[in-house]
Amino acid sequence: MRRADLCARDRWFNLLYANPRARLACAEDLVASMDQARVDASVVFGFAFADAGLCAACNAYVLEAAQQYPGRLLPFLTVNPLAGETALRQAIDGLEAGAVGIGELMPGGQGFALTDFACLDPLLELAREAGVPLMFHVNEPVGHTYPGKGDQGPQQAFQLAEHAPSNTLVFSHWGGGLPFYELMPEGSAVLANTYYDTAASLFLYDDAIFRHVAAWAASKILWATDYPLIGQARFLRRMQKLGLESDLLDRLLGGNALTLLNRAKSQGMEKR
Ligand SMILES: [Zn+2]
Repeated sequence: MRRADLCARDRWFNLLYANPRARLACAEDLVASMDQARVDASVVFGFAFADAGLCAACNAYVLEAAQQYPGRLLPFLTVNPLAGETALRQAIDGLEAGAVGIGELMPGGQGFALTDFACLDPLLELAREAGVPLMFHVNEPVGHTYPGKGDQGPQQAFQLAEHAPSNTLVFSHWGGGLPFYELMPEGSAVLANTYYDTAASLFLYDDAIFRHVAAWAASKILWATDYPLIGQARFLRRMQKLGLESDLLDRLLGGNALTLLNRAKSQGMEKR
């Protein structure tokens, strides 16, 4: 499907990608980028469309690409929680077809709130039982505006973590600042199963954020680029210049993600 068709069919996609300079990438582009940057494996997913049919088309593409590049592309699923039974069915089918997570779901674009628990509960339950993480787009509630910046921030993400303590949750873009609240005693308890990815960090935060958050949440930082928004090789070069200890760098660049995916899986298997 062409960019213009997708822009016509999804308000949020149009906001982000109507500009022809906003980069889109296919599976082959991503694998070429991984080869160039010497990235072994990438978590990969399609755009979180509001329309369930578009989500299904994305998921089919991503799952097929993951089969073509086994072990290198780790497929997540996008569904719209507001689609109810349809979303649940799509998630069940996608997990059976090899997906290892659900997300990145986009509250602003898809029209749900992180605190809409009645809407999210079926997916939360499925993710718990299947032992897969659920990942949500979250923004910082302050600072400059940009296309795709929504109104769901650390407060809503915290409430979701409080509601679903046994789910493994990933909040993108540093959870909009959520890691800071791990320094509150009640925060560290509520956020015990919560992770933060670093997608688009170069556009949002000073690089000092890596060392600071690692001081108290080193096991919860998942290096992510938001490729093709930020090139993997470029971001990796920046990471290598931070002067982080090599074992910490290894955890941020993949060790934490592997632990998370394995841990979620073993918790899911215990429940069966
Ligand atoms: Zn995002």
